[in-house]
Amino acid sequence: MSSWWLAEETPPLARVLVDSPDVEIVGAGITGISAALTLAAAGKRVRVHDAREVAGGASGRNGGFALRGGAMAYDKAREWLGQERAHEFWRLTEEYLDRLAALAGDALRRTGSLRIAADDDEREEIGAEYESLREDGFAAEWRDDVPRFAAAIFHPDDAAVQPARLVRRLAARAIEAGVEVREHHRVESLDELETERVLVATDGYPSGLLGGLEGLIIPTRGQMIATEPIAERLFDCPHYGRHGFDYWQQLPDGRITAGGFRDFALDSEFTADEVTTAPIQDALERFVAELVGRPLRVGQRWAGIFGLVLDFLPVVGRVPGDERTWVAGGYSGHGNVLGFMCGNLVAKAMLGDEHPLLGMFDPARLLQLDAGEI
Ligand SMILES: Cc1cc2nc3c(=O)[nH]c(=O)nc-3n(C[C@H](O)[C@H](O)[C@H](O)COP(=O)(O)OP(=O)(O)OC[C@H]3O[C@@H](n4cnc5c(N)ncnc54)[C@H](O)[C@@H]3O)c2cc1C
Repeated sequence: MSSWWLAEETPPLARVLVDSPDVEIVGAGITGISAALTLAAAGKRVRVHDAREVAGGASGRNGGFALRGGAMAYDKAREWLGQERAHEFWRLTEEYLDRLAALAGDALRRTGSLRIAADDDEREEIGAEYESLREDGFAAEWRDDVPRFAAAIFHPDDAAVQPARLVRRLAARAIEAGVEVREHHRVESLDELETERVLVATDGYPSGLLGGLEGLIIPTRGQMIATEPIAERLFDCPHYGRHGFDYWQQLPDGRITAGGFRDFALDSEFTADEVTTAPIQDALERFVAELVGRPLRVGQRWAGIFGLVLDFLPVVGRVPGDERTWVAGGYSGHGNVLGFMCGNLVAKAMLGDEHPLLGMFDPARLLQLDAGEI
């Protein structure tokens, strides 16, 4: 089942072959392609492998929200990480969102985003996040007038992306810079690869290549629908609420894409099985009918897999006990900007230039984390 985004026609990517690569990357989503761009710009010979096509994983199947920040609310990040590190983390994501916008062309629209409160409890929660953002000098606007909802935070610099077009565009740039992209080739074992350094950039898709870390970035299914286009303009920017469990936007052609409702069947959604299921699809359809005031015809239904991490921080760095292999992933459903950022940061670290924030994202911590700690 392909997504609305992946169904867009696209010119075939040019074919480049690289002799004796310096680095091989597994995964041709936003992370792997971002890393490839960085490594190629530094003069490295790079080969990227993907079991499917460029953006065929979550990068071409997501909600299309490009948000600043991490996967947790900002006030929680301040509590867990300390104010200074949370601030630095959020600022860095803003910087990478700007960089992404500069490369994306018409695959990204700077619409802002609305973090919705579905009820009074959630209103209180997002109120606390709003206050923390404002205290620390971040742009954010409080909205009391969002129809049907208790309140919202407007994040003015966030964006909506056509994620498959975005990653295909970045991949074309990487290929122009000399990167080889080998599509439809699953890497079964690291022994198949020739290079001294390998990056595994597969987020929630189990690659079988991560040794002791395998499974600790928890495969989690997200499901989506795209409706027929409608004439009325109801939503100017991406909306997300109920702690991120519901998310939707209206595309420029009038259709509505909506996703989430994992909490309607939480147990069955911790899976790498990329299929849609009736309970969640029905819930999504009912939700959109309520939003719009009438049922809409659903044109596309799809699922994708993202990687959930128990402390909601990305996983970026060397795989513990393996000098050769690096990993970047585990964005807990927020990989459009984080994947672009972490792909760049891991590539720089592989080149010997390690950003101080990477200490927080150290993969080794996953070996100690368990559900009791959060
Ligand atoms: C339904 C859904 C909605 C989402 N909504 C949003 C959103 O609105 N905003 C946001 O920021 N994030 C969102 N996310 C999360 C985001 O899409 C991901 O975090 C991000 O795309 C991960 O990118 P990636 O490049 O790390 O991995 P992916 O894009 O998942 O790419 C990994 C690739 O690795 C390949 N692979 C795996 N194993 C192997 C192997 N052994 N050999 C070769 N290839 C292999 C797979 O084929 C896949 O193409 C959503 C995710 C889903 C599923």
